[in-house]
Amino acid sequence: MAARQVLVVGAGIGGLALAAGLTSDARVSVLEKAGGLRESGGALTLFPNGVAALDAFGIDVAGTGVPVSAMRMHRHDGTPLMTIDFAEMARRTGYPVRNILRRDLLRVLADHVPASVVEFDAGVTGVMATEGSATAVLSDGTSREADLVVGADGTSSVVRRSMVSAQPARTSGWMTVQSVITGLRQGIVSDRSGASFVGHAGFCGIMPLGPNETMVWFDVRVPPQGWRTVDPWWLREMFGDYASSVRDILERVETVDHFEHRTHDVPDRWGRGPTTLLGDAAHAVPPTAGQGANQALDDAWTMREALRGDGDVVRAVRRYESHRVPRVRRMSQVAGAERPNQVPGRATGFVMRHVPARAAGAGHTALVRKWSSVLSGSLP
Ligand SMILES: Cc1cc2nc3c(=O)[nH]c(=O)nc-3n(C[C@H](O)[C@H](O)[C@H](O)COP(=O)(O)OP(=O)(O)OC[C@H]3O[C@@H](n4cnc5c(N)ncnc54)[C@H](O)[C@@H]3O)c2cc1C
Repeated sequence: MAARQVLVVGAGIGGLALAAGLTSDARVSVLEKAGGLRESGGALTLFPNGVAALDAFGIDVAGTGVPVSAMRMHRHDGTPLMTIDFAEMARRTGYPVRNILRRDLLRVLADHVPASVVEFDAGVTGVMATEGSATAVLSDGTSREADLVVGADGTSSVVRRSMVSAQPARTSGWMTVQSVITGLRQGIVSDRSGASFVGHAGFCGIMPLGPNETMVWFDVRVPPQGWRTVDPWWLREMFGDYASSVRDILERVETVDHFEHRTHDVPDRWGRGPTTLLGDAAHAVPPTAGQGANQALDDAWTMREALRGDGDVVRAVRRYESHRVPRVRRMSQVAGAERPNQVPGRATGFVMRHVPARAAGAGHTALVRKWSSVLSGSLP
């Protein structure tokens, strides 16, 4: 394995994690089209599968973000629906649930990759493959050959387009609008637990992010006049009859980030010859299940294990794909069927209210295990 040259396209969360995981086994290069790390975006929730993958790579995120012990779900007016005990997920898996700024996760990952490995301003425009090697063509006309090319280049992946399908990811008509609030936290969200509210206008989530920071996000339909038009005033109007916790926090929102939801069909094969995909390039999903980053990390772990277990690169990456496809498809079905404004009916609401928080945590653990390779313990 020491002689293998692995070319990773994209220095996002999945690409950097894979580079960090492979540096002791292979010669890795990462090509990133931007001039530096793309640090925008809000916070992400790392579930036990993401934390387990990072742990296996020797990456400790304990000093970044905050552990979260529960999520309290409500109807739009504040009527409680159900609490998911995230601490139960930690008890069952050995790994916590953690909220972390996307920017901070990228920086932690980059700290585990030698600086010389990542090349910025290196956009890839196409990939070619034979059985023995693969070549990435860059926007400056140069090309790089490697034993393996991994497309970790996100939802609009060039590697996917070159090697798998020209079909772009579908937009779902929904988007996330988010903001990080600095200042005193009050009301329903504590230092360790978050809250969510579902109603006709959409979904509102509020999560602690640090001692003095709170993340708030809204899953709403993209308005006819376009996603760029959504601003704090629009949100205040739309969510004007939600619980006071939502209205209070909206008063403090000054700027917002937009994030349009996209979904890929998950193909059976993610590449030809010594090429494959990882993360959003293979399986973009709306953030509804909170699995975008976690699945990219799960992919990175699985690929490393597959490459370690097989001297034949092409066979190893096909095994990696076979291991991931069924798990990713299960996750994609749940996340892709998003209806952020679906309010549980009276009967469902009654049942939800009577589910103990620990049982809900156990149920969520079972779900995440079904989507995860690293938590299943089975090697590809
Ligand atoms: C700027 C940005 C903001 C985001 N904000 C949020 C958010 O707020 N909430 C959320 O849930 N998810 C967000 N995401 C998505 C989330 O990071 C991913 O779902 C998840 O981390 C999976 O990561 P990934 O590595 O597959 O893709 P990404 O983290 O998207 O990384 C892909 C990387 O590939 C690079 N790239 C793309 N095309 C090329 C090319 N042709 N050549 C070379 N490099 C290329 C991109 O510049 C990017 O750095 C954001 C992604 C980005 C890029």
